[in-house]
Amino acid sequence: MTFSGQVERSDWELESWNEKGTVEECLKDFAGWHADILEIIEHTESLHKWGLFVRDALPRWTTGRVSLLGDACHSMVPYLGQGVNMAIEDGCVLARCIEAAPRDPAGALQRYEQARLARTTRVASSAAGMQTIFHNPALADPATASAYVDSQWSPQKSRERYDWIYDYDATSVAI
Ligand SMILES: Cc1cc2nc3c(=O)[nH]c(=O)nc-3n(C[C@H](O)[C@H](O)[C@H](O)COP(=O)(O)OP(=O)(O)OC[C@H]3O[C@@H](n4cnc5c(N)ncnc54)[C@H](O)[C@@H]3O)c2cc1C
Repeated sequence: MTFSGQVERSDWELESWNEKGTVEECLKDFAGWHADILEIIEHTESLHKWGLFVRDALPRWTTGRVSLLGDACHSMVPYLGQGVNMAIEDGCVLARCIEAAPRDPAGALQRYEQARLARTTRVASSAAGMQTIFHNPALADPATASAYVDSQWSPQKSRERYDWIYDYDATSVAI
């Protein structure tokens, strides 16, 4: 079983995602929560902790024959589950750009960046925007939680939130 929880902190500076945590520390973070939650934490064998950072979008990724892809140019918070997907899409579009201009690597990298920058910037900012939805105080109140879930995860709302992400096809998008 996997347990995952989030704690708001302003003093986190480590970039590491495999820093070890302790049960005592986690219990302190979730003090006052329901006994079932505390019991899960107490019986956890191994705990890790990592910071989630919202980065400003980079205005460009490419200089000459050097470019970036994946987290290096558009790291994002995990609330849309798109970090790996964006890296794979980058790779696919990059391969197509190089294939289209094998004798012009610098031009291919510019073309790749132009094809991907707006898309990844929008996905990253949409993921950041999900923070207030996933961690909304309405979810912590039994009187408002159900209505909040209905309003935020209705079929229509989910389509609006996700369809534009999954409608994208990296194998055929214009480059
Ligand atoms: C805990 C955690 C959970 C996640 N869960 C999900 C999820 O469920 N779904 C999802 O879509 N995304 C998830 N992500 C995000 C996802 O892992 C990243 O978006 C994705 O791995 C980015 O791929 P990447 O190739 O750009 O970078 P990375 O996967 O970070 O690859 C970079 C590689 O470069 C290597 N490297 C670094 N410096 C050097 C150097 N100087 N020389 C040589 N090699 C070097 C690193 O060792 C690493 O292997 C998660 C991330 C974390 C931290």
